Amino acid sequence: MTRRFIVRTFGCQMNEHDSERIAGLLEADGLEATDDLESADVVVLNTCCIRENADEKLYGTLGHLKSLSDRRPDLKIMVGGCLAQKDRDLVRRKAPHVDVVFGTHNVGSAAELLRRADSTGPLVEILDAAEELPSALPSKRRQSHSAWLTIQVGCDNNCAFCVVPSVRGREVSRPFGEIVAEARSLAAAGVLEVTLLGQNVNSYGRDLTLARRRAGPEAPAGPNPEATPNLEAAVFDAGSAWVKEGARRARPLFADLLRAVGAVEGIRRVRYTSPHPKDLRQDVMQAMAETPEVCEHLHLPLQSGSDDVLAAMHRGYTAERYLERLEQARRIIPDLAVTTDIIVGFPGETDADFDATLELAATAAYDSAYTFIFSPRPGTEAANRPELFISPEVIAERFRRLEVVVQRSALARHRDRIGRQEEVVVEGPSKRDPSRLTGRTRQNKLVHFDPPATGVPAPGALATVLVTGAAPHHLSGELTEVLTRGRNRIPVNVS
Ligand code: SF4
Repeated sequence: MTRRFIVRTFGCQMNEHDSERIAGLLEADGLEATDDLESADVVVLNTCCIRENADEKLYGTLGHLKSLSDRRPDLKIMVGGCLAQKDRDLVRRKAPHVDVVFGTHNVGSAAELLRRADSTGPLVEILDAAEELPSALPSKRRQSHSAWLTIQVGCDNNCAFCVVPSVRGREVSRPFGEIVAEARSLAAAGVLEVTLLGQNVNSYGRDLTLARRRAGPEAPAGPNPEATPNLEAAVFDAGSAWVKEGARRARPLFADLLRAVGAVEGIRRVRYTSPHPKDLRQDVMQAMAETPEVCEHLHLPLQSGSDDVLAAMHRGYTAERYLERLEQARRIIPDLAVTTDIIVGFPGETDADFDATLELAATAAYDSAYTFIFSPRPGTEAANRPELFISPEVIAERFRRLEVVVQRSALARHRDRIGRQEEVVVEGPSKRDPSRLTGRTRQNKLVHFDPPATGVPAPGALATVLVTGAAPHHLSGELTEVLTRGRNRIPVNVS
């Protein structure tokens, strides 16, 4: 009988995409996906250690799985991802019923590790560096019309609150040609929207200067087409814009990539996450403005509006510099939506620091913000300063004040859209009210609307919607035209 598996993800987009690859590998190995945890033969928990509640969720789920594995000794439990990478043996010590512990660099071995656990028993296998870039692996996407596309893994920054550099390693960029080739094959499979994924997408290609070596010794700063014996390899690694500019350019740029992916036939929308404010350059803003496929949405993590806190975090920019970049982006890219991440209660954050954050958030007038309460992640610099920790009561009060500021600007931005026709990609039935549909605008806003009486457009269909209502987290509207119909039917209850 075919074994059935389920992958549960506790983390960020990077983890979500790794989960798609794990699912793709298990399917390629003959297993079948299920949504039912209780009846699954293999449960994979893909973990994250960026925020505290991710490990609470993991150990809570493992507690629940203990009784399941007592009843069904054949059940195999695998734990992968950042938390597994960091805590390694601790996972099995806390939960001896786990069969496989594997890290962020072992995603490609998920199926093989399961086979080994089947034949030889429980194992912990953590690699400290990637064997191959994970996007070369098969993947099973959640949505057929939209896909993540990894352009880079790891991070070379050292933000004082973040564990990513220690669990994901140094920045490694995928070769330019490989990314464009994957975008082409996604488009051929019906994907119309890709999200380029990296921890710091603006530094994409920084490590690809090494590709010059492949172009031959005569190419000291960029390959010279006449003298280069291996021009094709250089173009594959670094893109034709880099090669054309030769010695004037030391590496491929993220802006080149935006333009190249936008030019892939069939790709209607390009998004990316996340840029680092210190590395966001004008050429990227220009590429966004000049490439119609690149959506007008910028997620620009602020973290704090206080220069002292930003310096303690090692963010590499000041509040003033951040606002300058934001204003420049809004000037260059018409109708840009801006979202952000903000941490409340970083160790040592004073009332004045927090007021500076509130002020900056009000000035920036975000379309939405992910606001987080500081959570010490073991092994990070910030976690080692308990004497500077802020009391939970003070943090809770600051958090509430920030929410008010963010919601106010989000609502104002959304109200500004009332009366406009928005292009949406249909996602499916609304989660709150399945008789309605939900779509996503180019600015990444959810919009809810009634399906037409004549046939429900499928996920991936393009439509236009007249915006008639606004709330802090979504829009509502009336469908005016279905531009293209998606591939699959949506089960919508039209009463
Ligand atoms: S840029 Fe900073 S916050 Fe982002 S992944 Fe790198 S270290 Fe973490």
